[in-house]
Formats: sequence, structure tokens, C-alpha cells
Amino acid sequence: MDKLRPRPPRQFVKGSKSIKKALPIGSRLRRQCPECGNDLVLRMSKSYGLFYGCLRYPNCSGTHSAHQNTGQPMGIPAKTFVKKKRMLAHKAFDTLLSSKKNMLKKDAYEWLANKLDIKPEKCHFALFDEQMCDLAIAIIKQEVSFQ
Ligand SMILES: [Zn+2]
Repeated sequence: MDKLRPRPPRQFVKGSKSIKKALPIGSRLRRQCPECGNDLVLRMSKSYGLFYGCLRYPNCSGTHSAHQNTGQPMGIPAKTFVKKKRMLAHKAFDTLLSSKKNMLKKDAYEWLANKLDIKPEKCHFALFDEQMCDLAIAIIKQEVSFQ
């Protein structure tokens, strides 16, 4: 079992991360409602700011989070139980981070990506399905308990 250890700092190379343009309220995500598969519409709520709500609201309460500055969708929409799993996986990840004082968050994501056999840029809990969350939680728990 290879141990998680801090890595020396590396030269940070600026990637070609494209800047996404801001979306107007009313923009639609086609067939993305996590609950019913209908379109999601970008809306503004006084308490939560920008978010995506199902076109069929109030008949469907499917929602998805949006980046507050651009209105772009945050990760991949998921049903409520997957969202809960993502939160659990994130919690496990935070436990890992707090147990590895010398480890940078970026490196921890890279370590996890390596364990999950996925690309580091795909290693975000907002992109995970239920199975991936379960796997990530199991891997992290094992690592934390082996210290
Ligand atoms: Zn819906």
C-alpha cells in the first residue's frame, strides 16, 4: 500500500482553461433535470442567487447549482441521493486533508484521481456518480485509517 506523502512544489504551468461566458437568466440546459429529465432553466432566487430549476416546476422540484458569476452549471446534475453521496465523499476528502497537514488540496485531488484511475481534471465530486463517490469514500477511509 503506497503511502500518501507530500510532494515537492512544482512549477505551475498555466493551462489553456477556456473562460466561459456568462449566461443570461432563462438559459436552458437541455434534458438535464436530474429528477425528470426535462430542461433546466437558469433562475435567480433572492436567497440562493443563480440556480437551475426544472422547467416543470412546481410539478418537479429538480434543481442544480450554478456558478454565481457566470450562471454556468456546476458539475453534472444529479438526483438528490447522489448529491448526498457527493457531500459524504467531500466530507471524507476534508478529513483526509486535515489529517495530512503538509498536503496541498491540489495534490490530494491528484492522489485520489490516481487511485480512482481517472484524469485529475475529472476528479471533482460534482462530476462523480454514486459508484464513484462510494469508491472514493472507501479509498479515503482506508488511507486515513492506515496512518
Ligand atoms: Zn424535473
